[in-house]
Amino acid sequence: MKALVKSRSERGIWLEDVPEPEMGINDVKIRVLKTGICGTDLHIYEWDAWASATIPIGLTIGHEFVGEVVAIGSNVADVTLGQLVSGEGHVVCGRCRNCLAGRRHLCAHTSGVGVNRNGAFAEFIVLPTTNIWQHSATVDRDVASIFDPFGNAVHTALEFPVLGEDVLVTGAGPIGIMAAAVARHAGARYVVISDPNPYRRALAEKIGVTLAVDPRATTLKQAQQQLNMQEGFDIGLEMSGNPHAFRDMLANMSHGGKIAMLGIPSEDISINWNQVVFNQLTIRGIYGREMYETWYKMTVMLESGLDISPVITHRMNWRDYEEGFAAMRSGNSGKVILDWAD
Ligand code: NAD
Ligand code: ZN
Repeated sequence: MKALVKSRSERGIWLEDVPEPEMGINDVKIRVLKTGICGTDLHIYEWDAWASATIPIGLTIGHEFVGEVVAIGSNVADVTLGQLVSGEGHVVCGRCRNCLAGRRHLCAHTSGVGVNRNGAFAEFIVLPTTNIWQHSATVDRDVASIFDPFGNAVHTALEFPVLGEDVLVTGAGPIGIMAAAVARHAGARYVVISDPNPYRRALAEKIGVTLAVDPRATTLKQAQQQLNMQEGFDIGLEMSGNPHAFRDMLANMSHGGKIAMLGIPSEDISINWNQVVFNQLTIRGIYGREMYETWYKMTVMLESGLDISPVITHRMNWRDYEEGFAAMRSGNSGKVILDWAD
């Protein structure tokens, strides 16, 4: 089968012919229909220090996908052929203390699809049945292909109650924009998003934020004044990994404010700990999605009117993957979807 493979220890991704993945008795085999390109895939393409230390040569990359079930293992009872599915990108051990307690997102033995094991940028992918999410009949296929990052957004945005609260999102990448949309849908009063990139601020405005600010031109204090806010943001969603953004957020939280942090810091970040202590802030790290409460909430929010489709800005055939990676690299993109159907 055709697959996009990290076949050399240098910058790039290569289209290769690889054997179809083999199945075990607890596995599901899926024909991939659409995939999303993630920032992680871009790191693997660019072959930065993280990627070259993490990714085994010969790996099929990619983890955001939707597809249809074409085969099931003999132990699999609840998945049917032809069903539209996506895969949870974290394969957990199932046996550690957290897994046994039902807190599978906290498993310390997580293996990443398209990072530690073969991924979805291929004609077929095989996953354990415990990693399969069966979509509702009404789901849009493009949206279904980005349930993985949508799940990051939902897990982060709903980590703390947002009803009636003022929410600050730092970073209007695809995940920040989706998180802003989720916070609004879940009843936040104001949702302010910051990003120096004008393309992405415009995209955030399109999806319905209260205010999208350029942190180089407008301080978060000025944004609060514009909205007549008195005491700072109640909830912070850190979605940039940028040290300035995080420090800015800390300085603009209300006393008792709560921060959910998804952005992966690009470097060590020193902060003013007095702001954390005296303002009694909570900072919570977020990784992945809750299995499967986040997936359930994604589904019901779409069914109750949340529309995240504007975050998808590019759609192309998988053979044009170089163009897709270039769009991602430019920053002038939301989600980029590759179509594998033909
Ligand atoms: P992205 O890189 O597309 O978006 C980050 C955005 O932050 C960019 O638009 C950038 O312009 C903006 N930014 C840079 N400096 C800023 C500043 N000073 N203030 C405000 N914004 C600033 O990333 P994404 O795909 O949307 O993902 C968001 C973050 O979440 C990334 O850091 C990513 O690595 C991380 N991530 C974490 C997990 C997890 O499980 N923890 C999963 C997926 C992604
Ligand atoms: Zn485990």
